Amino acid sequence: MNHPISSRPTTLPDLCILCGEADAVSKEHVYAAWIGRIHKFGAIKAHYQKTSATGTTKTTEDNFLDKTLPVLCDACNTRWGSDLQDAASAILKPLIKGGEWPALSRKKLHAIAMWATSFAMVREYMYPELVTFEQEKRTRFRKEETIPEGINVWMGAYDGTRDLLTWHRAMFDGFDTGVSQPNTALFVFTIYKVIFVVFSTSSVELASPYSTRNYMLGRCAHAHNLRRVWPNEGIFPAGRPLPVESVENLMPELYDQLAGDAKWLLDRG
Ligand SMILES: [Zn+2]
Repeated sequence: MNHPISSRPTTLPDLCILCGEADAVSKEHVYAAWIGRIHKFGAIKAHYQKTSATGTTKTTEDNFLDKTLPVLCDACNTRWGSDLQDAASAILKPLIKGGEWPALSRKKLHAIAMWATSFAMVREYMYPELVTFEQEKRTRFRKEETIPEGINVWMGAYDGTRDLLTWHRAMFDGFDTGVSQPNTALFVFTIYKVIFVVFSTSSVELASPYSTRNYMLGRCAHAHNLRRVWPNEGIFPAGRPLPVESVENLMPELYDQLAGDAKWLLDRG
C-alpha cells in the first residue's frame, strides 16, 4: 500500500486557507513583521524543522523576515489578520523582550491563542502534504473567531537567544481505523524569551481532555514550565524559563506522550 501522504497535494491552494472563498493572493509572513521590529533583527535566520518517523530532522534555514506563503486573501491578511496580530503583539512584545509576566486575563489568553493558532495554520503550509486543519475549521476560526475544538496552546518563558526555532510534526492518529489524511499536529516555536506549543487534532479520542494521552501531553508541557493558554485555565504567570539546552528535547518528549497507535509521517525525502 502506498503511504497515504504520497497522494496528497504538495502545492499551495488556490483559495484563501481562512475564508476559503477568495483567491489566495496575499503573501502572509510566517513570522509577522512586528516580531522583526522588536529587535531590529535584520537578516537573522529562522530554523524551520520537521522530523521524520525515524527521528531524523530536516532543517531549512531562511531569513524569517522574508519568508512568506501566499495562502491568504487580501481581506484575511491585511484587515482581519492585522487586527489579530495587533491584539497579540500588544500582550506578547514585553514578554518576548524578557519582561515580567503579568497575570493575563481570559480575554488576553484568548487573543494569544487565536494568534498562535493562526501561526500554526499558516506554518503547516510550509509542507502542504502535511496539512492537518480542515478547511471547515479554518473558516469557522476566521468567521466566528472560534478556536477549533482539538486545539491546545501552551506558552512559557524561555531563556532564548535571538534565533527563532520552529518544529512541526504531523501524524495520523487512528491510522488503522481508516484515517486517510494527517489529522494531528504538534508545533513548537520560540520567539526570543517566549516559547509556544500548539497541538491540533481531529481525533475525537485525542481531543478529549479525559483521554490519557491528552492528559499526558499537558503534564509533559507543564513539567517544562509551560502554562496552558487554551483551553483556558486562567493560571499564569509562567514559571522558570525553559533553558536553551532543553528546547531540542521538547518536541520528542511531547511526541512520546502521544505515541500509542499514532503513525508519524515520513519525510517526503
Ligand atoms: Zn480569505
